[in-house]
Amino acid sequence: MSSSKLFIFNTHDLPRRAGEMREYDLDVPAPERIGIDVIAVPEDQAIHIAMKLEAVTEGVLVSAHVSTVAEGECIRCLDPVEVPITRFFQELYRYAPEKAHTKAQRKAAEVFDDLDEDDDLVMDGELINLEAPVRDDIVLGLPINPLCNPDCPGLCPGCGVKWSMLEPDHRHDAKDPRWAGLSDLFEDENPDSISE
Ligand SMILES: [Zn+2]
Ligand SMILES: [Zn+2]
Repeated sequence: MSSSKLFIFNTHDLPRRAGEMREYDLDVPAPERIGIDVIAVPEDQAIHIAMKLEAVTEGVLVSAHVSTVAEGECIRCLDPVEVPITRFFQELYRYAPEKAHTKAQRKAAEVFDDLDEDDDLVMDGELINLEAPVRDDIVLGLPINPLCNPDCPGLCPGCGVKWSMLEPDHRHDAKDPRWAGLSDLFEDENPDSISE
């Protein structure tokens, strides 16, 4: 995972008094493709971050709405699909112990330091890095099985043409033994509902 400076935000304008609050709107281009095989936010796609920063004793609490558009292909018919992604996360960025301004802040940071440090988001001076939570949030918001629409009938496995473009009675002769099993399947799965 590369790290992008684009997600680093300076909290200088937020007074370091618990209860202070500021709101920001950011547009960050995706530094690289973010997602899974079938669907992802492409590189350079705008990621909109509408966030509220609150000063708390331990650091800065970030509440952020993340929105962007993922692109991929329908797993049934392979048509391109665009999926709007809207997510919300809340993360506490803790003051690094040595950067804490007051005794209370330093104490809070030190207490935390004794606990686990693995998943923690620590401020770098006044800087917070939004990349990890934004990335995680986008990936969690992606559909695992994207579809062009929920009723997409997919492709005929016999000829690879979209079912939506084929006649309702489209089928392949079972002469070719390779298709025999498949056409049996069709008859089971797609009973001819038109004939009465
Ligand atoms: Zn489809
Ligand atoms: Zn076919």
